[in-house]
Amino acid sequence: MKERIAVYPGSFDPITNGHLDIIERARGLCDRLVLSVLVNAEKEPLFSVEERIALIRENVATENGARVEVREFSGLLVDFAQSVGAKMIVRGLRAMSDFEYEFQMALMNRRLAPGVETVFLMAKEEYSYVSSRLVKEVARLGGDVSALTPRGVSVALARAFPR
Ligand code: ADP
Repeated sequence: MKERIAVYPGSFDPITNGHLDIIERARGLCDRLVLSVLVNAEKEPLFSVEERIALIRENVATENGARVEVREFSGLLVDFAQSVGAKMIVRGLRAMSDFEYEFQMALMNRRLAPGVETVFLMAKEEYSYVSSRLVKEVARLGGDVSALTPRGVSVALARAFPR
C-alpha cells in the first residue's frame, strides 16, 4: 500500500507540550510525519531554526523506525507538502480564536493544491491554552512554564531570559 505522508507545519518557537500532544495524535493517522519548521515564522523568532529543530529532536523520537522526521521549510506550504509527497497537512486547534485563521489557510491551501487535505486535531484539554507565544511571555517575566514544555525547552527559556 502507498505510504501515507503528513506534514505538521509550524514555527515551533519553541515546541510545547501542546505540540507534542498533536504529534502523538498525528503519528497514529499516517505512516510518516514530517515536522516542518517554518524558517522565518515571525519576524524575530526567539530561537533560530537550528535551535528550534534541536529542541524538537531532543524531545521527539525521530530516529529510524519512529516515522517522524524534522525538516525546515520556507515558501508555500503546499509546495513543500507536495515535495515530500504528503497528501495531509496537520494543524492543531485550540480555541475559537484559532478557527478563523486556520479556516482561511485551509481553504486557500486547498485552492492551491486540491489534492492536499488539511486535518485539524485537538490536544488534551489541559494544553488547550498553551501557545509558544504565551510560554515565552511567561518565561520572560520569570514565571514557571516547566509543566507546559519539555524539560530542555524550560532550560533553553531560562537561558534566553536570565534573571
Ligand atoms: P504557527 O506559527 O504556524 O501557528 P505554531 O508553532 O504556533 O506555528 O503552531 C503550529 C500548529 O500547532 C498550529 O496549528 C497550532 O494551532 C498548533 N498548536 C500549537 N499549540 C497547540 C496546543 N496547545 N493545542 C493544539 N494545537 C496547538
